Formats: sequence, structure tokens, C-alpha cells
Amino acid sequence: MDKIAASAPQLQGVIPYDPKYLPADMMLSANENPSDVAPEIRREIERAIRKVELNRYPDPLANDLRDMIAEDNGLTREWVLVGNGGDELLFNTALAWGGPQRNFLNFPPTFSVYAANARLTNTNVIDIPRKSDDLFGIDEDAAIAALQDKARPVHYTIIANPNNPTGKMSDTTFLNNILKSTDALVMVDEAYFEFSRNTMRPYLEENKNLVILRTFSKAFSLAGVRLGYILAHPDVIREYIKVRQPYSVDAVSQAIARVVYANRAAFEPAIDGIIAERERLIEGLRSIPGIKAFPSDSNWVLFKMDRAKEAWQHLFDNGILIRDFSASTELTDCLRATVGLPEQNDALLTALRDFVLRR
Ligand SMILES: *Cc1c(COP(=O)(O)O)cnc(C)c1O
Repeated sequence: MDKIAASAPQLQGVIPYDPKYLPADMMLSANENPSDVAPEIRREIERAIRKVELNRYPDPLANDLRDMIAEDNGLTREWVLVGNGGDELLFNTALAWGGPQRNFLNFPPTFSVYAANARLTNTNVIDIPRKSDDLFGIDEDAAIAALQDKARPVHYTIIANPNNPTGKMSDTTFLNNILKSTDALVMVDEAYFEFSRNTMRPYLEENKNLVILRTFSKAFSLAGVRLGYILAHPDVIREYIKVRQPYSVDAVSQAIARVVYANRAAFEPAIDGIIAERERLIEGLRSIPGIKAFPSDSNWVLFKMDRAKEAWQHLFDNGILIRDFSASTELTDCLRATVGLPEQNDALLTALRDFVLRR
């Protein structure tokens, strides 16, 4: 046959996700940890991988890892589910709580994967744009009103906390108000909670509709491994288990994650370093004429400037890759730089200062 039937209708017009992950000397575009896992821990990882039986299917639920995560969070394994990166669990959220005739409440500008997953699952997206103040806060009254609109019930909502790519957290009181105002599933995406030092974990038992998402990709230097997890009521976890791919988290990833999680205290000094560098980067950006740097609770800084697209190119030509949001309607002229090592942040500031002052 020289032709093929059309793919599913919801794929018409979809542009595949492209992180614009171009090779560069300094990779400051994807909010990764700038340091790889320390050599001692890598050696331990290598020993653990050697013991993996590659001919056997992995434990589908990664129960050993679940137990470790549960214990650290004062829970039992029934409250934890691991996934192939946080991204898999985001997709599973849309599969399990979205679908035709169902509504997802979104707060753009935010992580674009949320809306993309809704589209792929034929879920209707209700957008409540964030305020255009410096904090990109959620319009709290509009959010509560949407959640209480009986004519158009919301089935799930996702709040990135802190919000990517804008940087700030939502107020804990507001998040608790949301949780009390609806029986919709409320996912709080805590992919960066190690940098914000703030979590909704204390409110988990009292809110059956709360799902907390976390990842090993950022603070724990494991973006290459693909491991994320959720914390939620066991009844909610059971629904996620119904839609997940049974073996999505492979045995090697499970082994690596167990070693890293057991050594998580060793990552704390580097996390403190990134938080301190974040503040230095914000100060440095603000000292450059014409650059407006937004506050951040995370491991990146969003900033706004004239000729942002040209500035992005100038940085790239100097071996520095950051993320360009300048063409988006909500974040016109905005760029996002991941906090790197001190010398990388210096190089970024120097290149930007050169760009601004050259003409
Ligand atoms: C990075 C990120 C995730 C998860 O990433 P994975 O690498 O798939 O674990 C989830 N949410 C946000 C907002 C992120 O930035």
C-alpha cells in the first residue's frame, strides 16, 4: 500500500515537543543540575547495576524504591507510585482523569506538557491566565470560581509549584483553599521543591484529592535516568496503576534511583549552592541596564529584555544555551536561564553585559 489511514484526529495540527536542546559548552536551558552524580555515588551505582538481572522483567511497581520514598515521607508504599520521569505520571494523570467530555483547569504560562497531554487525550482545557504582575500569580478568585462552576465541572487541575517557567510558588493558604473548594484531582507539581524548600506534603492525609508530583531529574542530577514519583491517597494511586505501562520503570533505573535516594543527603550542599547562586544571578542580571529579572524559588531565572531573540543568539554563539520564550504571547521578550556552576553564571552575565553595552 502506498498510503496510510489518517492518524487519530486529535493529532491534527500537533507540533511535537521540541526542547531545543542544542549542543553547547554550557547547557543552561533545561533546569538540570549542573553537576553530575559524585564519583563515589557513581561507583556505588556501577556496583548496583552489575547485580541487575538484565534478562528478567523489573519489579513493575519498584516496591523497594517505593518503600524508601514512602519512609522518607512518613507514608507507606500504597501512597507512592514511581514513573518513567515525572512526564509519564503527568501523561497518566490525563489518561486517568481526562478524556472526552472532561475538563482540565490550566494556569498558563506554565509547563507546556500539561496542555499537550490534555490534547492527546481529548480532554477539554480551561485556561485561566496568570496575572501579569512580577510573580505571575494565579488569579485566585477566578480559579475558585472555575472549580465551583457546576455547569462545567473540572476533573483535574495541575499547579506547578514553583511554576515553570515563571519561577515563583503559589501561596500555601491559596492551595489549601483550592483543595477544599473542589473534589477535582489537584496535582501540585513539586519538580523543584528541593530548591523552594516548600511542600504540600503536610496536607496530604486531609485531602484525598491532592497529588504531589516530584522528580529525580533536577536536584538529584538524574535527568538522564527518567524517574519521577507521586504521593497520593492509596485509592488515587490505584487509579494511576490502572493506566500505567506495567514495566515503564526499567530495572537499571530502579537500581540507580535506589542508590541516589539512599545518598540524598549528599546532594544537599550542592542544592544550597544552587540556591545561593540563584540569588547572585538575579542580582547580576538586575545590574545590567534594560534587563528585568523575575524573582525565583527554583533553579532558574526568567528575565525580560529588548532584542531577547538576538541576545539568545549572542549567548549561543558564545557557547551558552538558555531557553528562549521570547516569541510566546504570554512571555514576550523573556528568556530563562538555569542556574549553573559559578563560572557558568559568570560567563552568562559577562556575555549578556557585552551584548547590552556593545551598542
Ligand atoms: C522537569 C519537570 C518535570 C518532570 O520532569 P521529568 O524529567 O520527566 O521527571 C515536571 N514538571 C515540571 C514543571 C518540570 O519542569
